Amino acid sequence: MLGAMEPLELLPEDWDRALCVVAHPDDMEFGAAAAVARWTGQGKTVVYCMVTSGEAGIDGLSPDECRTVREAEQVESARIVGVPTVDFLHQPDGILEYGVPLRREIAEVVRRHRPDIVITGNFRDTWGGTNLNQADHIAVGKAVVDAVRDAGNRWVFPEQLGDDLEPWGGVRAVWAFGSPSATHAVDTTDTFDAGVASLDAHGAYIDGLGWENWDSREFLEGFGRQGGQRIGTAFAATFEVFPMGWGE
Ligand SMILES: [Zn+2]
Repeated sequence: MLGAMEPLELLPEDWDRALCVVAHPDDMEFGAAAAVARWTGQGKTVVYCMVTSGEAGIDGLSPDECRTVREAEQVESARIVGVPTVDFLHQPDGILEYGVPLRREIAEVVRRHRPDIVITGNFRDTWGGTNLNQADHIAVGKAVVDAVRDAGNRWVFPEQLGDDLEPWGGVRAVWAFGSPSATHAVDTTDTFDAGVASLDAHGAYIDGLGWENWDSREFLEGFGRQGGQRIGTAFAATFEVFPMGWGE
């Protein structure tokens, strides 16, 4: 694909707080953990929010058992890249619906953490070509973009506002990793190993997939190199950027 080789802009790094909202434990680790490690290494605060606990993700494990395992793996995975806080919204894995209830959940998290940047996963219909995206990812990404706007409007979900929660209109942009329409990238060469370790923390999940001879480092290197070629570094994570301010 010719488009996949076009140069990308560098992501800005003049911000302090990022909130990452994704559908499942492991979503960050398949595309953005090395970037998170870079940013926490710079002293930035990054918080994770899992909309589901990925409890429908392991065929041989019932959701009630699976939830506990996957939440623990995600907390460890986050710790490895410098993220001490992981919120779980406990929405139903596999059957998320885009709509007002999901926007309400996410808007509350945005109001609570007051981030400069909100990060989510690719919510385009595909990963490129005919590789279809997954329904939960699409629902979450669309709801994230809307919820960021909702969070700044005191008349939307006003029941959330009170003594300790105010509207928050300070989000500058939503960044979606793994998008086939990536516009930006960040150099992850120095933190690449942390990204691999963060993915490896999802041991029960990866075992449950039963992919023979699958190697996390090899997998992440493939995407990392493709991104790196577009900004002239060994490795990079790529993002599609959606500015949230007016007139941008
Ligand atoms: Zn996922």
